[in-house]
Amino acid sequence: MTGVCTVLGQCRTAIEDIRNRRNPQRSINTTLTTNRKHHPRSCVQRLTLPRDEGGRGLIDIENLHNKQITSLRKFFIQKALQSPLHKIITQTDKKITPLNLHSTDPQTNEHITSKADKIVAWERKSLHGRHRLDLQQPHVDMKASNAWLQRGELFPETEGFMIAIQDQVIDTANYQKFIIRRPNYNDSCRRCHGASETIQHITGACRAIAQTDYKHRHDQVAAIIHQSLAIQTKLITDKVAYYKYKPQAVLENDNFKLYWDRTIITDKTIYNNRPDITMVDKRNKLVYIIDIAICNTHNLTNTHTEKIAKYTDLSIELKTQWNISHTKTIPIIISSTGVIPKTLHNSLNTLKISPSTYLLLQKAVILNTCRLTRKFLNS
Ligand SMILES: [Zn+2]
Repeated sequence: MTGVCTVLGQCRTAIEDIRNRRNPQRSINTTLTTNRKHHPRSCVQRLTLPRDEGGRGLIDIENLHNKQITSLRKFFIQKALQSPLHKIITQTDKKITPLNLHSTDPQTNEHITSKADKIVAWERKSLHGRHRLDLQQPHVDMKASNAWLQRGELFPETEGFMIAIQDQVIDTANYQKFIIRRPNYNDSCRRCHGASETIQHITGACRAIAQTDYKHRHDQVAAIIHQSLAIQTKLITDKVAYYKYKPQAVLENDNFKLYWDRTIITDKTIYNNRPDITMVDKRNKLVYIIDIAICNTHNLTNTHTEKIAKYTDLSIELKTQWNISHTKTIPIIISSTGVIPKTLHNSLNTLKISPSTYLLLQKAVILNTCRLTRKFLNS
């Protein structure tokens, strides 16, 4: 993992810090910040938590040091029961070494900060803790939501930036006004001027970038789904990278028909008649209405419900007009920070797309959210 390598490179500095009784973990954090791999206001507990828990999986150098102290103290104190040499050493070491063998009481440098302690500390932080609480919601798949961290494919700078977005420590106007506490600061959005400029506003609610950056992110996710369906139904044979894939408006063979972003003309006026993808299974007389949404994490459930309701009229109309047996409305919903709702797995399963496709969707969303947030902050 790239992040781990960075820290291993700093081991020498950390050992020097321990020798000089400075805090080695702080030195590692500072080095990561200097190299733009860790936001200075991001949650420090996340740095050394395992990646499947939403951390970055770095070695906890302080715990490592304290474990060594514990093991060495145990060794000398037990050995002193039989060996005169070890007995003299334990009697003589009155804080001469960090082991302080003269004392049999537990030492402060033996303290181990457990994974549970770190998670509790993270959860208790008012800003940082919000993402952790989001991950624990019953409709969220925590393991899948942290899969991008476990895969470790992104550059450490991108990884650190997405963690800072999740930790809500990005320097937005709202952050300046309410967290840095500058009461006279104008916190309205620098682009649309229509709402307070929070990080959630930037990642998923600013109308000024809806038709550009959000559309680009949405279309990349939709293209991944389109390509997967086209390959699975043998409408195309060659797979290309998702960011190079240009979906065709209509693809058809004897068994399937696949529409991309096409208005479906009906006799009755129906307002929501343009799903992102429409797939017709001719043999089974089945139509899949597929709509994609990238929303903020707190909107995952509502967005899913809205998408189902949105196409109810179209479903009814299609059954009679196209002479089909069934329609299935399939929402593909993922959060702008890569949080995966459990319903996404059901949607992929219904479409018979590989279950691991969510990894690619998550990667595309995270890269796009990082890109558009950087662009926004520089505007
Ligand atoms: Zn805005």
